[in-house]
Amino acid sequence: MTASVMAVRRDDVIVVGSGIGGLVCALSMAPRTVTVITKTPKLEGGSSVWAQGGIAAAMGPGDSPAAHAADTVAAGAGLSNLEQALHLTEEGVDGLQWLIDEGIPFDRGPDGNLELGKEAAHQFPRIVHAGGDATGYVLMESLIERVAESRSIQVLDDTFVYDLVVSNGRTHGVISCNAESGWVFHQAPIVVVATGGIGMAWWQTTNPVEATGDGLAMTARAGARLADLEFVQFHPTALAMASSTDGASLPLLTEALRGAGALLLDESGRRFMLDEHPHAELAPRDIVARAIHERVRRGQRVYLDLRPVLAGARKEAFPTAIEYARQAGLDPHVEPLPVTPAAHYHMGGVQIDEHGRTSIDGLWACGEVATTGIHGANRLASNSLLEALVFARRVAADIGNYDPPAVAAAPQPVPTIPDAASRDRIRDIVAAARDIMSQHVGILRDGEHLQRAHEELARLDRELRELGVAGAAKPLPKPDLVRAYGEARNTLLIARLVTYAALCRTESRGAHYRRDYPQPNPDWAHPQSLTAEQLDATQ
Ligand SMILES: Cc1cc2nc3c(=O)[nH]c(=O)nc-3n(C[C@H](O)[C@H](O)[C@H](O)COP(=O)(O)OP(=O)(O)OC[C@H]3O[C@@H](n4cnc5c(N)ncnc54)[C@H](O)[C@@H]3O)c2cc1C
Repeated sequence: MTASVMAVRRDDVIVVGSGIGGLVCALSMAPRTVTVITKTPKLEGGSSVWAQGGIAAAMGPGDSPAAHAADTVAAGAGLSNLEQALHLTEEGVDGLQWLIDEGIPFDRGPDGNLELGKEAAHQFPRIVHAGGDATGYVLMESLIERVAESRSIQVLDDTFVYDLVVSNGRTHGVISCNAESGWVFHQAPIVVVATGGIGMAWWQTTNPVEATGDGLAMTARAGARLADLEFVQFHPTALAMASSTDGASLPLLTEALRGAGALLLDESGRRFMLDEHPHAELAPRDIVARAIHERVRRGQRVYLDLRPVLAGARKEAFPTAIEYARQAGLDPHVEPLPVTPAAHYHMGGVQIDEHGRTSIDGLWACGEVATTGIHGANRLASNSLLEALVFARRVAADIGNYDPPAVAAAPQPVPTIPDAASRDRIRDIVAAARDIMSQHVGILRDGEHLQRAHEELARLDRELRELGVAGAAKPLPKPDLVRAYGEARNTLLIARLVTYAALCRTESRGAHYRRDYPQPNPDWAHPQSLTAEQLDATQ
C-alpha cells in the first residue's frame, strides 16, 4: 500500500517559536517575509513571558562590557569563551538600545535614567527591567504588538512543529500539524529553531508546559551537533507548593529579591548561607541550589524571607512575587515563604557558531534551545534574555546575506502516531521519565544512578516508539494526540541525551555536580559535543 503524502505549503523563512528569540529574529528580518509557527494558541507561550529579573547589560556608571564579560566567564566555571562573552556584552548594549527604540517601556528612576537591579555574581547593578519583576510580560507584550503591526510576518499559532525535514545535510522545511489543516509539509530553504528550554523533563521546574525540548530533539534527530547538554541550571528559589507533585510549573521567586535583601532561612530561622559561601544569599546559583537541596533532601524546609525587602525602599518592585505568594495562600509581609530548587535553564543545546548557524545547512538556532559556549557550565543571572536578543539579531543578519540553493524536496509521507487508546500509556511513560530525571539526573548525580537512568530511559523510549509504529497515519489526526506524542518522544530523547552527557562527564563543574567526582578535572575543561547517532550507538 502507498503511504499518503502531506499537503505542501511553500515558505521563504520559517521561525519555530514565538519567545524573545523567535520574535526578535522575525522582526529583525523585515521586510523579508517570515512565517512564525508556535504551538500555543496565542504568541504568549514559552519562558520569555515569565522572565522576572530582567536583561543584563553594562549600562550603569563604572560598568563596562569587559566587566560584564569577566563576570560571565567567572560564572561559566572554566568553560565560557571570553572572546564570545565580550562580543555578547558589547552587542548587548546595542541590543538593549534596539529594544528601547522599539518602544519597550523599561523602568526608569526619577532622573529618567534606566533603573538597574543587582543579581548574584554581577559586580555592578546592571539588570534592566520593566514593570518591576514583570519584565518578560512587558517585553513580550510590546514585541507581540510589533509583530501584529508588521506586514512581513505571518503567524501560525496553535500549530505543533513535529519535525524538521533535512536531507543530505541541508534543510528543506518542517512538518507541522494543526486542527484545521492536519499535517502540512512547509517547504522552506531556511529554518530558525527558537523553541526554548527543557524544564518539563523534571517534576520540579520553573518552566512553562511548552518547555519539552522539541527543537533540541528535532535538530538532534536531524543529525545536528549538540553541546554542553549536561549543564542544567536549577534555580534555588521556586515557591514550594503542594502542586509540585502533579507536574505543574512552580512559581519563581526571582534572584533579584535576594539582590534586594531577601534572606534564606532554615527551619530554625537561621541564615544558613552565611556558613556556605562568603557571598551568602548571593553566592553562585549552583552553590545556593545545592545548599537548599541538601536540606530539603533531609526532610527539612527552607524559607525565603521577603520581609527585609518589603519593609524597604524597593517594596513596589516585586508585584509578581507578592501575587504568587498570595495565590499560594501566603502573606510575604508577615511570614517567610517555603522554597525549593527547580529546573530552570539549559546551558546546553544545539551547537551554533557566532552567526547562529547549526551544523546543518539552512538551519539556524537562537535562544535557550541553542548553545553558544558563552554560558559555559553555569549561566550568569539575566544573561539568557540578553543572549537570545543578541543572537536572534545575528541570525537575522546572517540570513540576510544567505542565498539558498534551489533544491526540490521529496514528498513527505504522513507520520504514523499512536492510537487514541495509547494516550494514558504515553502520559505514564513521560511521568516515568520525569521520575528518573528528578531522582537521578538532578542537582546531585553519580555514575551508578546515571547509568541506571541511561538504561531505563532507553527502555521507555523503545516502548514509546513501538506505540508510534503500531499506530496509524491519518492526514487529519487529533492535534492534541499529535502534540502529546510529539512532546513525549522529544522529552524522552532530550532526557536520554542529557543523562548520557552527564554520565560521560566524570567531574563536577558549575551546575553539573557528581558525588563520585566532586572536584573539577582539568582534563575536562572543554565543552562536550554529542549527536543523537552517538547516543544511539551506546544502546
Ligand atoms: C520563570 C522564569 C523566569 C526567568 N527570568 C529570567 C530573567 O529575568 N532574565 C533572563 O535573562 N532569563 C530569565 N529566564 C530565562 C529566559 O526567560 C529564557 O531563557 C528565554 O526567555 C528563552 O527564550 P526563547 O525565545 O529561547 O524561548 P521561549 O520564550 O521559551 O519560547 C519558546 C517558543 O517555542 C514554541 N515552541 C516550542 N516547541 C514548539 C513546537 N514543537 N512547535 C511550535 N512551537 C514550539 C513555544 O510555544 C514558545 O513560543 C527565566 C525563565 C523562567 C522560566
